[in-house]
Amino acid sequence: MKDNLRAKDVLNKNDLIVIAGAGGFIAGSLVRYFKEQGFTRIRAIDKKPLPKWYQITPGVENLCIDLVHEDNCKRACEDAIEVYNLAADMGGMGFIEKFRIECLRSILINTHMIECAYRAGANRYFYSSSACAYNTELQKSPDVGALKESDAYPAMAERGYGWEKLISEMFCQEYWAERGMMTSIARFHNVYGPFGTWDGGREKAPAAICRKVIEAQDTGIQDITIWGDGNQTRSFMYIDDCVDGIDQITHCEKLIATPINLGSNQLVSINELLSIVEKIAGIKLEREYDLAAPQGVAGRNSDNTFIKKILNWEPSTTLQTGLEKTYYWIKQQYSDRKAGKRTIS
Ligand code: NAD
Repeated sequence: MKDNLRAKDVLNKNDLIVIAGAGGFIAGSLVRYFKEQGFTRIRAIDKKPLPKWYQITPGVENLCIDLVHEDNCKRACEDAIEVYNLAADMGGMGFIEKFRIECLRSILINTHMIECAYRAGANRYFYSSSACAYNTELQKSPDVGALKESDAYPAMAERGYGWEKLISEMFCQEYWAERGMMTSIARFHNVYGPFGTWDGGREKAPAAICRKVIEAQDTGIQDITIWGDGNQTRSFMYIDDCVDGIDQITHCEKLIATPINLGSNQLVSINELLSIVEKIAGIKLEREYDLAAPQGVAGRNSDNTFIKKILNWEPSTTLQTGLEKTYYWIKQQYSDRKAGKRTIS
């Protein structure tokens, strides 16, 4: 079997692709990606009303339905050849530490979606898991060892969000083991880029830092507040690498029902992240540290040994390149909002 197959290599252009969570960041980008590949039947689903979707790709069937209900999942999966489930109630650390119940309740979406995909006879089912599924005991230091796939067990995931991801992964594994449906599981490590949430409480560090720097420039304020001491480390994956990775993982036979890291392994501290953004913006700000703010684990990085071995590929967009595109996109959103135009946050 050849590796690095993508949807365009295994599907007919008129096969129905269903993408859940499409009003959000990653799934919305995935819809656009498949449309650009020439797929003619894409069903995009989100519970948000259409005007609130981050991206609307022309020529796509858009459904605004709530996937916590089984009937809606049935409607969503009707005639699907492939189902990509990225719908979840989630956000950055500020959200997942505060709203654990909302995060846990995404189990309803995942439980019904996988069953309905199976009953509809879908060939493949993709599930977006997270690095938050990893054992938190292994993430207590900023110079953390990168997390490899086996580090999820023994389990001690992020409370709420991480445990929900872990149990939904297990659903994927059992639907393959017991029922023979091909499932794929990617553990995303912080994804960022244009069309990501940049304000309102659900945004993640790269977007939040870009926004704060832009605000400082605009208002003349000379300082910036960082959550935590700024020494906490993460890796950040650019959105284009994420959608390409989803496509490759879903169509790789060796990865059926096998959780795999999908993330960059360029580890940076939040202080370093800010320095890159300051350089792009051409500004230097006074840093203030809010030690009471949510900051998550001390360090987290993606071990890419497995993905390199299987796909001979890994996310490769540098933080400098990805952040430049993200910064200028958020800057445009910021000035659009000031001018009273529609923006995503
Ligand atoms: P997002 O919040 O931008 O998109 C998720 C979308 O799901 C939202 O538009 C939301 O309205 C929709 N949704 C929530 N509940 C729903 C429901 N009941 N029915 C229908 N739609 C519903 O988030 P994202 O960053 O695009 O994340 C997509 C997936 O990737 C999620 O599963 C998330 O947990 C996972 N993930 C993301 C990151 C990241 O850095 N962005 C990291 C790890 C994992």
